[in-house]
Amino acid sequence: MLYGVKDLRVEDAAVPKVGAGEVLVRVKGATTCGTDLKIFQRGYVEKIIKLPTIFGHEWAGEVVEVGEGLEWPRNGMRLRAGNSAPCLHCAMCQKGKYNLCENMIWLWGAYAEYVKVPARMVQVNTQEIPSQISYLEAAITEPLACVLHGVEEAGVKLGDSVAIIGAGPIGLLHLLTVKKMGAKKTIVIDLVDERLNVAANLGAEETINGGREDVVEKVRQSTAGYGADVVIEAIGLPATWEQALKLARKGGVVLEFGGCPPGTEIKVNAEQVHYGELTVRGAFHTTPLHFRKALDFIASKTIDVRPLITREMRLEDIGKAFEVLSTSKNEIKIGIIP
Ligand SMILES: [Zn+2]
Ligand SMILES: [Zn+2]
Repeated sequence: MLYGVKDLRVEDAAVPKVGAGEVLVRVKGATTCGTDLKIFQRGYVEKIIKLPTIFGHEWAGEVVEVGEGLEWPRNGMRLRAGNSAPCLHCAMCQKGKYNLCENMIWLWGAYAEYVKVPARMVQVNTQEIPSQISYLEAAITEPLACVLHGVEEAGVKLGDSVAIIGAGPIGLLHLLTVKKMGAKKTIVIDLVDERLNVAANLGAEETINGGREDVVEKVRQSTAGYGADVVIEAIGLPATWEQALKLARKGGVVLEFGGCPPGTEIKVNAEQVHYGELTVRGAFHTTPLHFRKALDFIASKTIDVRPLITREMRLEDIGKAFEVLSTSKNEIKIGIIP
């Protein structure tokens, strides 16, 4: 249970009662996420999380109870669901912007033995897990779905040069994805050498340590002086949002992916936007369609997410897992096993 900033407690909770249309799943594996770490450390995402709550949102498991009125799924089925389900009938959903749904429901509770999937989520965002992948791989469907939505918004094309700021789990998933989309050159920027080494091992053509090197200069050098076709900010700080704008070529696209604290403002150079035809895009969360695609890509190993799980820990050590994530430079995602 998360009670507040850095206040995570292991408690006994009742097994949820299943109502009509709902499904109870025994969690077999969960993965930690940058969003979880951010909420744990800063705790400001009030819109999508009400405290105290069972924490975590990336999970996969086995169906143990199926509510009345459902013909699918079956008991014993390997399943993943959520972490969101749009309403399908608000103004945003009617425009196909399911990620911006006005009535979105969110599901927390990955770091637990059981999770109950709400009826709407069973209908719009629940998938059976193909047998060839592990529960932990299936749990990574959620962040990959967000990344697939992001790169579609950014419009990455064959032959593009792509600069990615941030070599955490989300930056690395962007790296794996844009390489599959045909990016010719990928440049990953971070402050931590250990993370940059992981990026290089996953195929980044170039890595830049922003603490030691002049990032703008280096990116220009490696893009024949123009700047990158696409720049992706995968950290969520105003300084790196602004840095992203400086790394794009004329006519390029900047995808501001990392969420900044509410009220954050950044400076944008109007000359660059007008005379340089810079496109600046945000991307928030994802849609049920992208969850489906993400699971398919993981299952086919089109995107191999296994290198991102750098350690496994038991559920009772969840507090320790977040300490490790807060301090370690080597961990990407920790697999949590109940
Ligand atoms: Zn996540
Ligand atoms: Zn809606």
